[in-house]
Amino acid sequence: MPERLIIIGSGPSGLTAAIYASRANINPLLFEGFQEGGIPGGQLMITNEVENFPGFPNGIMGPLLMQNMREQAVKLGCRMIMEDIQSVNLDSYPFAVTSASGDTYTADALIIATGAVAKRLPLDSEKRLWGKGISACAVCDGALPVFRNKELAVIGGGDTAVEEALHLTKFASKVYLIHRRDELRASKIMQTRVLTHPKVHILWNKTVEEFVGESSLSSLRLRDTATGEFTDLPVAGAFEAIGHSPNTNFLNGQLNLDSQGYIITEQDSTVTSADGVFAAGDVQDTKYRQAVTAAASGCQAAIDAERWLLERLGI
Ligand SMILES: Cc1cc2nc3c(=O)[nH]c(=O)nc-3n(C[C@H](O)[C@H](O)[C@H](O)COP(=O)(O)OP(=O)(O)OC[C@H]3O[C@@H](n4cnc5c(N)ncnc54)[C@H](O)[C@@H]3O)c2cc1C
Repeated sequence: MPERLIIIGSGPSGLTAAIYASRANINPLLFEGFQEGGIPGGQLMITNEVENFPGFPNGIMGPLLMQNMREQAVKLGCRMIMEDIQSVNLDSYPFAVTSASGDTYTADALIIATGAVAKRLPLDSEKRLWGKGISACAVCDGALPVFRNKELAVIGGGDTAVEEALHLTKFASKVYLIHRRDELRASKIMQTRVLTHPKVHILWNKTVEEFVGESSLSSLRLRDTATGEFTDLPVAGAFEAIGHSPNTNFLNGQLNLDSQGYIITEQDSTVTSADGVFAAGDVQDTKYRQAVTAAASGCQAAIDAERWLLERLGI
């Protein structure tokens, strides 16, 4: 017998879908992932304090929030397997998904909630100081007390980097935008905003060679890409805004994706290009990328799947 619903991914979107589907008596099976595209629990497992998820007036540690969501889903009856899905077959029906151990499972409906991975600079010093002044999300972490009224840096040159720099101007005394080229890739309107903002100072043709600090970040070692010269820039925080990689490789082109690899969903819904396959959270979101928006779209996906199962299969 096929499963009625398989959910792939255990971040806020997958676990919220699991909570809703379990409460709707769909008895979902969820693949938590293991090492492809992040870890079980998703991106919040690599952050500390989450201050903007509703319901926690004193904030909550990211891993604890995810542990709570998982417990809630399990308590409501969701079955979990801590494995990566390596491939899917959406041409066959019921759909087939194959896990890393080679086992194949079939399902009447699928929810893809595999998220995205924030790209990070491949430096040992970055790994050592990650979470101690280095983040990949200014909207998430910029308002933390440790960054207030401090000089901060954003690394990148696209729309996200510019948005993050502008967001940080609300808290920082000064924001450096560090870009490896001599012009921004961001849209013209965003460029104008950032170039004219009195708190933003753009450092052109610079790459970060090292994150410096003992227990927390204290400065960046920069290299000028034109002259090769090294300089030190004292900052209390650095935000990497060099892009995200959506976890969609295992789909092997069987769903419509945008040019960056994000799943395309119909407007205001989680419906994908394959009938009976739904997508939720960051894997289909290039715009908001927040835990609460991911959770909300997980809820939508579970409701979409429930209605689809009822309408198409009467179950
Ligand atoms: C450093 C950092 C700090 C952040 N802080 C905040 C914050 O304070 N507040 C906030 O609202 N948001 C924050 N965010 C953003 C937030 O974490 C994401 O928006 C949210 O986690 C997205 O949820 P998701 O469920 O869509 O995906 P993810 O959290 O990315 O989870 C994806 C899941 O899919 C699994 N997976 C991937 N590939 C496979 C596969 N092939 N097979 C099986 N499973 C797979 C992964 O293991 C993971 O469980 C932060 C992000 C980062 C990087």
